[in-house]
Amino acid sequence: MYRDTWAEVDLDCIRTNMRTIRRKLPRAVKMMAVVKADGYGHGAIEAAGAAVQGGADCLGVAYLDEALHLRDAGIKLPILILTPIRPEHVSVAIEHDLMLTVTSSSWMKEMRAYKPEKSFGRLQLHVKCDTGLGRIGLRTRQEWLELAPWLRASDIEVDGFYTHFATAGQEDTSYLQQQAGRFLTMMEWAKQSGLAIGHYHCAGSAAALRFPYLAMDMVRIGAAIYGFYPDKLVPHIRLRPALSLRSRLIQVKKLGKGECVGYDNSYVAEEDQWIGTVPIGYADGWTQSMQGTEMLIGGRRAKVVGKISMDQLMVKLPCWVSEGTQVTLIGSQGGDSLTCKELAGSTGRVSQEVSSSLTSRVERVYIQAEGNQHVWNVNTAKAGLMS
Ligand SMILES: *Cc1c(COP(=O)(O)O)cnc(C)c1O
Repeated sequence: MYRDTWAEVDLDCIRTNMRTIRRKLPRAVKMMAVVKADGYGHGAIEAAGAAVQGGADCLGVAYLDEALHLRDAGIKLPILILTPIRPEHVSVAIEHDLMLTVTSSSWMKEMRAYKPEKSFGRLQLHVKCDTGLGRIGLRTRQEWLELAPWLRASDIEVDGFYTHFATAGQEDTSYLQQQAGRFLTMMEWAKQSGLAIGHYHCAGSAAALRFPYLAMDMVRIGAAIYGFYPDKLVPHIRLRPALSLRSRLIQVKKLGKGECVGYDNSYVAEEDQWIGTVPIGYADGWTQSMQGTEMLIGGRRAKVVGKISMDQLMVKLPCWVSEGTQVTLIGSQGGDSLTCKELAGSTGRVSQEVSSSLTSRVERVYIQAEGNQHVWNVNTAKAGLMS
């Protein structure tokens, strides 16, 4: 790595967060670690390894390609793909032992053109119900009655039946309760069908932390393993953010009153002041909406001034500091810290949007334990995941 901007991912945080969540849940509940979007920007393979060490039983991803990326790394754990794949790709999923999400009988019907019942392999499915998020899933009893007969085939295993909440992070729980009630009704349909169903599940991070009774057979934990959670709503739980983002000042200069900074003269100095340049820009995922946010330099806050360009941005320094000084964009420095949550909040986003937006140009450096910084040993990860 030659660049002066990098992300530090503390795998011990992911491990410990997972253990903390595990302890809050009934013993029999299975834990799915959700590592979609390259582990919310933390690195899917490394995050999966740490989550497994922390007690994860299986993994969740959004897309088939993400699941194959984990399999290519030698990860043998059960993996659920949370978004329906195209029916014609079903044999790829079988070949790599992946669990699929199904939402309709029409998908099953189309799939049969590519996977006849008597052909090689079993198909492991989780049925997805839409109880109010309005995203994907079957909604009516009629839809279920049309899907159920397809699930009776000898090569089909119904490993799960699930839904996802829309408002689990909000203080007001009325809509969540409505969704949970709806799911209980849909679970009755499933039970009445007589089909053997492996796991009922509905809770993501916020729901699992706030309402352990909703854990059912399994929870799907994404945000919380990375340290993102509604901390005010669960004051008895403490999870640590795993990701820090650091850089160094590549230039420091004094600007006179009236001088300009950034494209389109987007900032004009109101007085003589020190301006620093940080080598990160919107091509790293540090979007132009971050203009006006702060970063930590020498333990003090400095504000981003002028438009953020593709590779660099400028900050207004509280005083002169030397070129090469370390900058903390996310994480702790001195006694202060900047969280994804704070940065996200000031730009109308959520924490995981900030971390998952960091592009591959920002190298991830893995930290195993405090002070012991080194790049994650892939072989150790593989050994842990394959056992
Ligand atoms: C992303 C996702 C999750 C994980 O949600 P978090 O809030 O990040 O824990 C769980 N379930 C589904 C269906 C998802 O798409």
